[in-house]
Amino acid sequence: MTSTQPLPPCDATDLGRDLHALAAELYPLCRSMTGPGVRRTLEILGRLVPLELHEVPTGTQVLDWTVPREWQIRDAYVKRPDGQRVIDFKRSNLHVVHYSVPVRARMSLTELRPHLHTLPDHPDWVPYRTSYWTEDWGFCLSHSQLERLEEVPYEVCIDSTLAEGALSYGELFVPGESRDEVLFSCHICHPSLANDNLSGMVVAAYLARHISERPRRLSYRFLFIPATIGAITWLARNEACLVRIKHGLVLALLGHSDPVTYKRSRRGNTPIDAAVAHVLALRDQPYQIVGFEPYGHDERQFCSPGFNLPIGCLMRAPHGQFPEYHSSADNLDLVRPENLADSWAVCAEVIDVLENNRSYLNLCPKGEPQLGRRGLYRSLGGAMDRQALERDLLWVLNLSDGVHDLLSIAQQAGRPFTAIQQAAYLLLQHELLRPLTDESAAQTERCTP
Ligand code: ZN
Repeated sequence: MTSTQPLPPCDATDLGRDLHALAAELYPLCRSMTGPGVRRTLEILGRLVPLELHEVPTGTQVLDWTVPREWQIRDAYVKRPDGQRVIDFKRSNLHVVHYSVPVRARMSLTELRPHLHTLPDHPDWVPYRTSYWTEDWGFCLSHSQLERLEEVPYEVCIDSTLAEGALSYGELFVPGESRDEVLFSCHICHPSLANDNLSGMVVAAYLARHISERPRRLSYRFLFIPATIGAITWLARNEACLVRIKHGLVLALLGHSDPVTYKRSRRGNTPIDAAVAHVLALRDQPYQIVGFEPYGHDERQFCSPGFNLPIGCLMRAPHGQFPEYHSSADNLDLVRPENLADSWAVCAEVIDVLENNRSYLNLCPKGEPQLGRRGLYRSLGGAMDRQALERDLLWVLNLSDGVHDLLSIAQQAGRPFTAIQQAAYLLLQHELLRPLTDESAAQTERCTP
């Protein structure tokens, strides 16, 4: 039996601290859909794992979309006549609407006002706004600051460039024994927002390092991509290889203290859906599982009907459903080290299940084999252990029929995956099972009426 034993549990405190420290290092960078902030982010993540940097030129046709111009920004401000910058990009990269076209003008507050964005319900927070697909410009500020602005002429400057360039994304492929792949994807296009983008990035990067350092059956692919256009670009460039993706998770919003939420794949009943549900059910913590909807993160693209990949989304509060979403309050205080470590641990447990989830065939299917005489219980101490093991052995024997895998046996038996895995391991050692190869499993499926 190919079995990857779980690594000894890492110290969650140390891990959480490392994840948070990486988020803190990435926080100030001015990421956007394209541009130097994204490249610098990939460079820093590349210290953990050898990310391949892809640069897709402006104008490249990708599915129904076109790779946009690259946006670079050097400075942006609104200045009073006395020279004081009342809005200053250099204090926070949220202050400018991302993808703003260049502007140099003098204008009154009345003329400037339509270009100012605030959050009246949260008067001290600065919103995050973009204008990716329409040529526009603007500034974001707190509502309380807006109310303090005086009616004087302002000097307005956005020193930006929108020009031919590239869309950048990072990719890491970690080969395993099998060509079957697990895909992890996170978005890297938001500026100083911690939960919405940095949390997914740092969890994915540390997960990639963890997987690279351990023996593995499956192959893994990690994508660090700008949301929407990045996923669409990657899908357009890799359509021929998508058949290898057997499982996947979009990682997003993993750092705040809400319970873990899993959004099922569009298909809803794939092994990744079962694996996440099993892991969450066994943890002694609240969680929720929600159905697929075509709204949220890049599962929208991966699960579009033409691809329909077995990819779900792991998050804590769902997309847009926490008050700090897309505002300056989504900062490094909102994202807690212990939550990042906990989200990482869920992913690592899911990987353990996927790695060890195999199908077997009972070699003694007519009546029950006589277990006692084979010495199957020898290593066990108490009667309770023996009783539990006996039930696990009987479940595995009964359902190892070429149709059920270990995870579906664990679900049907209401037992932890690891217990069923252990029972299968013992039966295999005693030559009562044989592993089904993918080909023989397919054969069995075809033969099943
Ligand atoms: Zn977002």
